Amino acid sequence: MNHQAPLILETFLEGLVKRSPGEPEFHQAVEEFAKCVIPYINEHPKYLVPRILERMTEPDRTFIFRVCWEDDEGNYRVNRGYRVQFNNAIGPYKGGLRFHHSVNLSILKFLGFEQTFKNSLTTLPMGSGKGGADFNPKGKSTKEIMRFCQAYMTELSKYIGENTDIPAGDIGVGAREISFMFGQYKRIKGEFTGTLTGKSIEFGGSLIRKEATGYGCAYFMEEMLKLKSDSIEGKTCLVSGSGNVAQFCAEKITQLGGKVVTMSDSSGFIHDPNGITAEKLEYIIDLKTVQRGRISEYAEKFHDCTYHEGEQPWNVPCDLAFPCATQNEIDGDSARALLANGCLAVSEGANMPVTLDAVDVFLNARIPYAPGKASNAGGVAVSGLEMTQNSIRLAWDREELEERLKGIMRKIHNQCVTHGREADGFVNYVKGSNIAGFVKVADAMLAYGVL
Ligand code: NDP
Repeated sequence: MNHQAPLILETFLEGLVKRSPGEPEFHQAVEEFAKCVIPYINEHPKYLVPRILERMTEPDRTFIFRVCWEDDEGNYRVNRGYRVQFNNAIGPYKGGLRFHHSVNLSILKFLGFEQTFKNSLTTLPMGSGKGGADFNPKGKSTKEIMRFCQAYMTELSKYIGENTDIPAGDIGVGAREISFMFGQYKRIKGEFTGTLTGKSIEFGGSLIRKEATGYGCAYFMEEMLKLKSDSIEGKTCLVSGSGNVAQFCAEKITQLGGKVVTMSDSSGFIHDPNGITAEKLEYIIDLKTVQRGRISEYAEKFHDCTYHEGEQPWNVPCDLAFPCATQNEIDGDSARALLANGCLAVSEGANMPVTLDAVDVFLNARIPYAPGKASNAGGVAVSGLEMTQNSIRLAWDREELEERLKGIMRKIHNQCVTHGREADGFVNYVKGSNIAGFVKVADAMLAYGVL
């Protein structure tokens, strides 16, 4: 019999940093996960001996490549492209592409790692991956975006396919970019297959996909509040970001009777104490997806609201918070400010928007706090449904898809409760989502033997 000493968090993390130096975001994501899962693994030696955690924290493979393209002035431009294929134990690699100047291997490994457990929680057969480039789309013309997307896909197309790896969008990659990349993939391969999700409805996209992450984040909050015989109705809500996730999270909150008073971008935030109504949100969606302007323009158009340059919304009094912009946007001080100002619950739309010390602040305050791998899984879930529709060459209607999305978010919530409920009844959603996500992937890896 092979004996293995129990895992010790500190020793495990030291080994991780040694194996993958200089990757702070990846270390952070693994630390949050390992804190929950190591005690569970030590209680279940079937995961310990085959070194499941060590295997799960090493991506299957990583592609890094040059992307050369031409700008409108005829200059040659060079960026670095990536695809991290993290884990395909329970299905083909699946996860978004991010175009942002900050993209590096650490960020993509943290996102790919999180994706593993998020995809597992959806109950759909999807493995995990993440990719993108250090390309900054801001200020680029549509033709420049098109040339970049085509150049990026020319290389990426070698590594993806409908049964191997199916990318989608993320920061800086929306319907426009997916369309350019899908067109290029189709041209290179000479085939029409659902190898990307988030496509337009006209060529294989799914209804509800663009709304799914934001809607799912609001539904998850509603589930957490339901458990406390409460609801979003009548609550004052802070939303950060004004991109895809933030827009539709704000829309669903409003439909559920909540009042959204803030939205933001990387330059600052707007505070509209009367609430960002459906009409005002329509302006923001047009501003961000068509005009590609800044959130400050909202304060020029609508009166009785203020714009706060270079600041984040977390000092505004609220009942509920929905961080939907980017990683590490809520630190310990922001978390304490939220609690001091009356925040009752947090549902993450973004990936890892809360630092490790801020997670502890929320958990110690024993408020319902949903980590992104649970609460923002609605997007990839509907991507999974887009893959199914592409395979059977049918398109489901809006009502059916929204019901399925709601059902999936409910099931994710239930899994978190099953694995995260503590003796006093408090639900630790961090623990619940990590353990529930882990078990399915780990059992599949065990079944395959030594791989
Ligand atoms: P978008 O590109 O549509 O929007 C991103 C928003 O966040 C913009 O308002 C952007 O402002 C803001 N932002 C980006 N970087 C920063 C920063 N460093 N500081 C402050 N604000 C910033 O992206 P998405 O809405 O798709 O993604 C938002 C988050 O949700 C990400 O964490 C992503 O990983 C996560 N997510 C997305 C899913 C999806 O389906 N799209 C699925 C699951 C998670 P600006 O315009 O100034 O850059």
